[in-house]
Amino acid sequence: MKIIMLGAPGAGKGTQAKMIAEKYHIPHVSTGDIFRANLKEGTPLGKKAKEYMDKGALVPDELTVEILLDRVSRDDCAGGYVLDGFPRTIPQAEVLDEELTKLGDHVDFAIDVDVPDENIVRRMSGRRACLKCGATYHIEHIPPKKEGICDNCGEPLVLRDDDKPETVQKRLTVYHEQTAPLIDYYTKQGILRTVDGTKDMKEVFSAITGIIDQN
Ligand code: ADP
Ligand code: ADP
Ligand code: ZN
Repeated sequence: MKIIMLGAPGAGKGTQAKMIAEKYHIPHVSTGDIFRANLKEGTPLGKKAKEYMDKGALVPDELTVEILLDRVSRDDCAGGYVLDGFPRTIPQAEVLDEELTKLGDHVDFAIDVDVPDENIVRRMSGRRACLKCGATYHIEHIPPKKEGICDNCGEPLVLRDDDKPETVQKRLTVYHEQTAPLIDYYTKQGILRTVDGTKDMKEVFSAITGIIDQN
């Protein structure tokens, strides 16, 4: 099973992808998490990615595609995976399709988590992230058990640099220009499914499992 999560920044892709990964026993592959892990380690990739991330821009396709293909070629991805935050451009989607076609394989579903822009900025200002394990919380909707501390690993939670309102606005513009065209791309392939991301996270998840289990 190969699933792609589409949606604006803050739509809930990561939240849902983690639940999908757990239920269907497939890895959750997030390019954003890979970049942030590299940033935290201070690797050259992390430093390069940060230049773009801090501006709310996309990391160049070449760099992103390389790390993604490397990740999905590992053994744990042999039985499928859920992609969160990739592809974000048409060229990224085309490379993924080409690589899968070479393997006689294909994407099963692209699930669009639909949330209007008005809701996004509010959601992002309440997002808190664990940079160690990648867990994500929301100060109102999905709070950690202990304020400011990750439930999984005890790390202090942070407001991501790129979740400040000015940067969120820019990321939304980038989303509409470069990523939203993927909705059309996967509609044409007949694999786009849309869920209402404004519902609470359990309802969104049951809509998604309904789609996957129907398969
Ligand atoms: P969000 O969860 O808010 O949608 P991500 O964690 O997926 O954000 O991504 C954070 C940032 O990392 C993006 O704004 C972008 O700079 C970079 N990034 C992540 N995935 C990609 C990608 N597929 N292509 C280009 N840049 C990416
Ligand atoms: P994305 O990966 O698409 O950027 P996240 O999964 O990180 O989005 O979610 C963005 C923020 O919204 C986080 O703070 C998360 O806890 C919260 N969130 C996720 N799903 C919902 C939901 N259905 N209702 C309310 N808040 C949510
Ligand atoms: Zn953690």
